Amino acid sequence: MRVFALLFATFMVVACSKNEDPAPQKEAIDITHDYFSFANTDQFVTEHIQLDLTVDFDLKELRGLARLKMRRLDPAATNIILDTRDLHIDGILVAGSEGDGSEAAYEYVQEDPVLGQALKITLPDGLEQEQDLLVKIFYKTDPRASALQWLPKELTAGGKYPFMFSQSQSIHARSWVPLQDTPSVRITYEATIHTPSNLLAVMSADNDPLTPRSGEYHFNMPQPIPSYLLAIAVGNIYFAPIGEITGIYAEPEMLDASTFEFASTQQMVDTAESIYGPYRWGRYDLLILPPSFPFGGMENPRLSFITPSILAGDQSLVSMIAHELTHSWSGNLVSNKTWRDIWLNEGTTSYLEARLMEVLFGKDRADEERVLSYRELLLGLEEVSPEMQALAPLESVDDPDESQGSVHYQKGQLFLQHMEIIFGRETFDPFLSAYFNHFAFQSISSEQFLDYLDQNLLQKQPGKFSREQAEEWLYQPGLPSDAPIPQSATLEKSARLAGSWAAGEVDVNDIPLSSWSPHAIVHFINNLPVDLSEAQLDELDDDFGFSQTHNAEIGRTWFIQVASRRHLPAYEAMEAHLNRHGRTRLIYPVYMALAKNGSDAELARTLFDDAKNRYHPLTVMAIESGFKELE
Ligand SMILES: [Zn+2]
Repeated sequence: MRVFALLFATFMVVACSKNEDPAPQKEAIDITHDYFSFANTDQFVTEHIQLDLTVDFDLKELRGLARLKMRRLDPAATNIILDTRDLHIDGILVAGSEGDGSEAAYEYVQEDPVLGQALKITLPDGLEQEQDLLVKIFYKTDPRASALQWLPKELTAGGKYPFMFSQSQSIHARSWVPLQDTPSVRITYEATIHTPSNLLAVMSADNDPLTPRSGEYHFNMPQPIPSYLLAIAVGNIYFAPIGEITGIYAEPEMLDASTFEFASTQQMVDTAESIYGPYRWGRYDLLILPPSFPFGGMENPRLSFITPSILAGDQSLVSMIAHELTHSWSGNLVSNKTWRDIWLNEGTTSYLEARLMEVLFGKDRADEERVLSYRELLLGLEEVSPEMQALAPLESVDDPDESQGSVHYQKGQLFLQHMEIIFGRETFDPFLSAYFNHFAFQSISSEQFLDYLDQNLLQKQPGKFSREQAEEWLYQPGLPSDAPIPQSATLEKSARLAGSWAAGEVDVNDIPLSSWSPHAIVHFINNLPVDLSEAQLDELDDDFGFSQTHNAEIGRTWFIQVASRRHLPAYEAMEAHLNRHGRTRLIYPVYMALAKNGSDAELARTLFDDAKNRYHPLTVMAIESGFKELE
């Protein structure tokens, strides 16, 4: 996932915490246990799920039947515990190897603001000898289902049809399917989805680009996945191909721009396969969501969900696609066993993303992105406690939605980069490829990774990098003293020029900004001294047109400056930026800069009130919490 959790870590604590008490003392944990699931997976395990669901936009609900094919591991066990959140259960049947099943008693036995409700199902009499069970649950979702976003037509690109999509990671699948919601259990699934007949449903499954629009859609996902990768979207969605196994699903208004922007997707798949082994999921398509999608992207298998804000018109922000694609190896193929091991998923993926970008777009651009990631890491480390600076904490972690951050992404990336430098790509690439193959379709812990690393790399080339060094990365706060520091000559140059132009040593016409990457431009803007004059800001905007940029990242960076420096001539353009985008990363910091500049707290709230019906509820919640914190 790409949520840019730095920001989310700040607001989700405020938004989600029902309990205002000071944080409890951290405790040492059983590192193999998933603390974010109620399920008794040591007694029963789900192998396959069959869904038959109707999508009701008027009631904002999914309703129907989930059939869970489960295996009993403990012959004495008679109660199944499933994870749920705000589900309305109408009845449960349980069958053995024969018959339709008998009614089972059920009740909620535990409730928690983060985990939801534990559903206990008591097996009916007569199934004592059965090892294979079929659990049929008739249910509907609640309009508040935390995984589902029901967008009115006004929040879509076309503005004519409603749109619904899911976001199951980390522990939200349980709000639309009753199940064992833990990454340690992998399931295959099938689904029949009923929709209004003019809309198309897609899932993290075998979407067929040629599916006729009928209002009834069938899906099959034959590869076992963890529950957080269950995904669905319904809307006025059309398909356009990119390459042999790649294509785009989007509203028709965004289809052409998307196929141009993401034209490199097939090449990305080919490149990743050539380094890390076969792509094992059949097709790789992208679903471009409406502008109000609050996140960057989500690696739902076979169909990544993507923000439209990376449609820059020049393919400059496609590292997001490289990120979501490479999750097909790290994360989706080899998954984290519990949420405490999320670095295995996100850190490895961030490393692979940079490698892919280097092959496709050159070393300069990849180095620029590595430097920007490193900058985020240094900022992120300042925000978390020493215990949570460990890649694989040995103490209890918070709500997995809140605790994911730059430690898991960028520190994990740097750990792998460190080993790449020490062993060389000729050794490290085949090691990673073999690792993906060895643990394919499994969910593993940080310690399983460590043991595999030790036996298959460290001990084979002794004296280069010790197990103790690897353990320092996994268990110690901060960064090891010999951690690599990414460098980028082009970013250094742009930062230097920002200073010398501001000091009057360089003429604005001598800044070759039009030949720079957007990353270098972002870095240039970020490195402008605080004491620029109004005339200097005008000169920059006149010459480089920052206020009119089509690149959302440049716009974000520029308008943060505009707001915090109170550069009034660009306020109109800033307002347009706030109205055009819905992704939290792009607008939240602009609102906060405005609210904090000493004069515009009221204006920030007025602009927000005018725009917020176009934003996603999660984004609205983030910004409102941000305002509240500033009061
Ligand atoms: Zn990710």
